[in-house]
Amino acid sequence: MATWTQTLVRKLKVGAHQATVVDNRIISPNIRVVRLAAPSFVDAGFSPGCKVKLRVGPKAMRSYTPLGWDDAGGWVDILFHLHGSGPGSDWARGAATGDGIEVRGPVKSMSTDHDDPDWTLFLGDETTLGLAATVRTVTPNARNFGAVELDRLDVAAPDVLGLQVEPVIRNGIRGAALQRWLRDCELPEGYGVVWISGHAGTAKLLKQAIAERKRNDVSVNFKAYWDRPKDRAKGRGLT
Ligand SMILES: Cc1cc2nc3c(=O)[nH]c(=O)nc-3n(C[C@H](O)[C@H](O)[C@H](O)COP(=O)(O)OP(=O)(O)OC[C@H]3O[C@@H](n4cnc5c(N)ncnc54)[C@H](O)[C@@H]3O)c2cc1C
Repeated sequence: MATWTQTLVRKLKVGAHQATVVDNRIISPNIRVVRLAAPSFVDAGFSPGCKVKLRVGPKAMRSYTPLGWDDAGGWVDILFHLHGSGPGSDWARGAATGDGIEVRGPVKSMSTDHDDPDWTLFLGDETTLGLAATVRTVTPNARNFGAVELDRLDVAAPDVLGLQVEPVIRNGIRGAALQRWLRDCELPEGYGVVWISGHAGTAKLLKQAIAERKRNDVSVNFKAYWDRPKDRAKGRGLT
């Protein structure tokens, strides 16, 4: 019979994969898509709205949203925003074919369980492009639209990725351009789902702006992806 430590070790190993970089594609100056392959991805169970954790440094695990995958082929594509310096951003910048990396997951991060919406609105930033790509596949019959705030250099990224979201160029305060876009956006009639993700401060303000529309036939799917250290210190942990 297994001891409790053996059971614990087995549980911790569930969803742990040793993956290899097979491609690192430049989408735009600050956006990369890295393809990772592992034999164990074949039955990993990737699904729209799931997340994985990557060991991007000896003591650094970071969360990412698969942009695409092929179960039978045993690969997953991860979109990285090269935002400056950080173990995740640095790892993606330098990832080369043949490099190894530990991947944990996937686990469910955002629910895609919605009753056939008439429309969906997606709001986010560079870090949410993977999420935008996959959640759309769950509502093929809805009018899917939205906007993503990006640095001017990366404005072509949604188009290169084949995503139907409007690129909104970041200008001045982070999130201000996207808030303006939303202010000018008329929400369609019928049952709608609004996806809000990306930078925590922006996401919070967008959620508030949707709530102010007072539509009881609209549900909001919200998840903050990253924040500034001073905000994190206030205790809002991101997982
Ligand atoms: C569920 C979930 C899914 C996610 N999916 C993705 C994804 O698919 N693609 C993706 O790129 N990111 C994604 N993120 C966000 C990503 O995990 C964070 O941006 C993470 O902080 C990046 O790690 P790092 O080591 O590069 O930077 P860190 O060492 O964590 O941060 C270093 C500094 O950079 C700042 N920073 C972090 N991220 C950004 C950014 N994007 N823009 C500007 N400044 C930043 C931090 O505030 C800090 O000051 C996801 C996060 C969560 C919680």
